[in-house]
Amino acid sequence: MLRLKKNVELPSISPTGFETPLSEEERAIQGSVHRFARDVLRPIGRELDRMTPEEVIAPGSPYWVAMMEAAKLGLDPQLIAQFPPEMAVRIESIIGEELGWGDAGLACSLGVASAPLMMAQSVGNQELIDMCMGKVGCWASTQPDRGSDAVTFYRQEILPHGKQPVGNISAKVGADEIVINGQYSSWVSNGSVAQVALAYMAADYGDGFYRTDENGTQTNGIVLIVPLDLPGISRGKPLDKIGQRALPQGEIFFDNVKVPKRFAVALKDEFAGNLAAMWSHVGVGMCQAFTGAARAAFELALAYCHERKQGGGLLIEHQMTQLRLGDMLRRLEMARAVARRSLAFARMSPQTHPYASAQAKVSVTEEAMKIVHEAFQLFGGNGTTREYPIEKIFRDVRSALIEDGENYILTARLGGLASQLYQNGWTKE
Ligand SMILES: Cc1cc2nc3c(=O)[nH]c(=O)nc-3n(C[C@H](O)[C@H](O)[C@H](O)COP(=O)(O)OP(=O)(O)OC[C@H]3O[C@@H](n4cnc5c(N)ncnc54)[C@H](O)[C@@H]3O)c2cc1C
Repeated sequence: MLRLKKNVELPSISPTGFETPLSEEERAIQGSVHRFARDVLRPIGRELDRMTPEEVIAPGSPYWVAMMEAAKLGLDPQLIAQFPPEMAVRIESIIGEELGWGDAGLACSLGVASAPLMMAQSVGNQELIDMCMGKVGCWASTQPDRGSDAVTFYRQEILPHGKQPVGNISAKVGADEIVINGQYSSWVSNGSVAQVALAYMAADYGDGFYRTDENGTQTNGIVLIVPLDLPGISRGKPLDKIGQRALPQGEIFFDNVKVPKRFAVALKDEFAGNLAAMWSHVGVGMCQAFTGAARAAFELALAYCHERKQGGGLLIEHQMTQLRLGDMLRRLEMARAVARRSLAFARMSPQTHPYASAQAKVSVTEEAMKIVHEAFQLFGGNGTTREYPIEKIFRDVRSALIEDGENYILTARLGGLASQLYQNGWTKE
């Protein structure tokens, strides 16, 4: 039924834009995560941004304060799962957005920190759960020679004359023990600080690294939860990089590392399914965090336009500036809508898919980049200085176009998936 109005009033608006009314619980969660993002993540993120990577990870660094304070918030995914599904999705999205609004790098660090625990809980292995509980985790997959190639699922993703490389790290799987040699890339988020890893790698089960079946030649793989204090494990120099400098990244080296076979969570035939499940589930976290980063940029630009005077008045008084802000806000709404929809699909669909999560990550980060770029431009010369926070958000968001899969590759894979769905009957009726 049409609700008639007597006057034109301003619309309902929440920190997360044109939102349908939040319940009391939702508002309370949003409020407490927002305060944490504002009072802890944002100032610490700025501080860490100016430190060297070595200083960021040193004992006593503000990074550890952020991690400890986050733990106190008690944002356990299992708590969120107690809400009805649609509400749980909205709560998870709001939490992720607030964290990304505070600091995108720290939001990513916090997100990935629980990856090994989440996997241990999913397989229901108490020994592994105990091993991961309260620890900083990482998700180790890419390697120097196996970047985009680390996550291929279909034959057409590798050229006909090529094959997926074994990569720089691999496992020899014995009856009771697994021996690991090699290294991960310097991009592994939390790689330089993690105490436990959810590790994906090629594996030899006694019959070589490759097998050939109706899907062509494929690399055998293994997924393990590895405590990172085992003999033979060492770290590279923490990575110095353009953006998300609050997120510690770095190589992890394995020299004849012996891991009990019971730490494996997916063997040979279960590898691809495990990777697909993990990526489908976790990949949507990036969408919420970078919606938050984009919102932070929009809010800064909106405030600046109400302070800066040019052309005889405030920037906001000029129609062209209103157009630019309007364009940023509609993109932000679009990014949030995609972020929420993909999160709902990842949490509620009976058949999720990594490329469904990945396409949303592409859309959200591309929109976030456009918003941050425009915000940067609105700040004029001030935007280019380190005195103003916009240049940091610009750098943080730029990295997200490559993080968790490079955007062109992910888009190409979506096209390949569309073709497979078409061949399977989709759109033909
Ligand atoms: C901030 C950040 C956080 C990250 N966190 C993690 C993490 O937690 N764990 C982890 O394991 N990794 C992580 N990564 C690594 C990330 O997943 C990879 O950087 C990404 O998948 C791309 O791999 P690459 O850097 O090796 O680039 P490459 O794969 O070498 O790609 C380089 C260029 O080549 C193009 N290209 C690649 N393959 C093809 C092809 N088949 N056809 C045509 N063009 C191609 C790409 O489009 C790209 O432009 C992170 C990266 C960043 C930036």
